[in-house]
Amino acid sequence: MGGELYQPPVSLSTRRFEITLVNPPGTRQPLTLLESLRNGHAPSLEPVHQVFCNRDLNLAEVDAVGFDMDYTLAHYHQAAIERLSVEKTLERLVRERGYHPDILDLQVPTDFAIRGLVIDTVRGNIFKLDSHRFVGRVYHGFKELSGDDIVEYHTQAMSMTTSRYALVDTLFALPEAALYATLVDYFERTRPEHSHDWRRLYDDIRYCIDLAHRDNSIKDEIVAHLEHYLTRNLDLALTLQRLRSAGKKLFIVTNSYANFTQHIMSYLLDDLLPQLPRWQDYFDIVITGASKPGFFTDRAPFLRVDSEEQVYGEEFGSFDSDTIYQGGNLIDFHRMTGFRPDRVLYVGDHIYGDIVRSKKSTAWRTAMVVQEIEGELLRTDELREERARLDAVEMELVRINEEIAYELGLFRRLQELDAPEDDEEVLAAFDEVRRNQARLRAKRQQVLQDLWKLERQIETQFNRYWGLLFKMGNENTILGEQIEVYACIYTSRVENLVHYSPMHYFRAPRQPMPHERS
Ligand code: IMP
Ligand code: MG
Repeated sequence: MGGELYQPPVSLSTRRFEITLVNPPGTRQPLTLLESLRNGHAPSLEPVHQVFCNRDLNLAEVDAVGFDMDYTLAHYHQAAIERLSVEKTLERLVRERGYHPDILDLQVPTDFAIRGLVIDTVRGNIFKLDSHRFVGRVYHGFKELSGDDIVEYHTQAMSMTTSRYALVDTLFALPEAALYATLVDYFERTRPEHSHDWRRLYDDIRYCIDLAHRDNSIKDEIVAHLEHYLTRNLDLALTLQRLRSAGKKLFIVTNSYANFTQHIMSYLLDDLLPQLPRWQDYFDIVITGASKPGFFTDRAPFLRVDSEEQVYGEEFGSFDSDTIYQGGNLIDFHRMTGFRPDRVLYVGDHIYGDIVRSKKSTAWRTAMVVQEIEGELLRTDELREERARLDAVEMELVRINEEIAYELGLFRRLQELDAPEDDEEVLAAFDEVRRNQARLRAKRQQVLQDLWKLERQIETQFNRYWGLLFKMGNENTILGEQIEVYACIYTSRVENLVHYSPMHYFRAPRQPMPHERS
């Protein structure tokens, strides 16, 4: 089997690096008995390898662990897959929708889009908003808008459920957003005098990218060059094997169909561990073409398919680990497995299809894989000094605000003295308080400018267009908030679980409400 095994990201501290040198990928053994009995991870586990917890989750009380495939078990190289999706979509825009072939030469940046963005298909804009639906940065093409150009977003109630807005909520949707910005920019540059139908542009891109997925041109290319698009990692095999050894049933529920699933899973897992030579050996049930979120809400039957996706029967009784299934639904899944819903953990990357929907439809516990955390944490560590400076400036602002409040108090007390109008001592005191207030307000303005500049400087290091994935200023983004509410645990890769015992008790930090902190 070709392809390099995954090398962990460059270490934040030297500790993981030492471990890597002692046990390079490909030779590392499963954790020792003592390590696995120790109910917790090594105390100095680096943030990029940690599993973060929003809601207490005791793995000892989990009987079955289900996995999504794309971007969950399969960790794709984002830039490579974006270039591929863009290329196939541009080809179809020319061929199927009559766009000028010049667009085939456009450079579409792979660092533009992030999850959580919203496309305004009427105005041709893309924006980022926080969990209170406050719109922050807005781009039209690659031009950042401000002032009057975005006043509409701040003065009207934003309802994200209308068809006007399209959410960029999966990693598969990033090229769509990047392409939209690139084409808006292109048409504004090349045909500035025309009025543009930005809705039509969005629909055309959506149609063509969807077609490129459905006609298999994206998948065929991935299958032909697996090592170019995918990371193979021994830790994934070890993670799954340890969960199995702890007696848990493992299953896959993916929207990908059988043939693609077979290629991807075989590349990821075949021939890695001698006791589990075939990828199917790791799983008790494999469900493909599941149509999530429909899997959680509808009643499609479970079909038996071969690896060419030919249907050869329907399943009513019980699952067989050597069969690949297609379709299906949650109710029959539980009828046939007898799994207790609250003892199932489902691991996925799609905030809606995998996490929010499963949480709303079942008692399944949820783990979200957020691939981008790795980059954000590495950057956060590199920017330690700048962030300390930001903290200091924020403290300074708090101090100045307190001083302003104090001076205001003094002013009121002077007013309350009811002294004669020409009392010189009182007049001098008023003057002094006014001078202090003016000085402090000027100082506050200066500090605020510093704060905004520094905040922007730091955010730009994460993504130069949008800043951080989970934050907008001090607020969470919608994605950040949804993860907090719906994902019991989250991490950057499934294989980070290898650092934890399969009986680990994940405990959420206790978050007091503001009134409990006073
Ligand atoms: P999962 O994440 O394993 O459930 O699989 C996601 C599947 O959805 C992959 O096979 C993708 O190719 C497919 N997919 C992603 N975006 C689109 C789209 O826009 N149209 C059709 N299929 C898509
Ligand atoms: Mg997925």
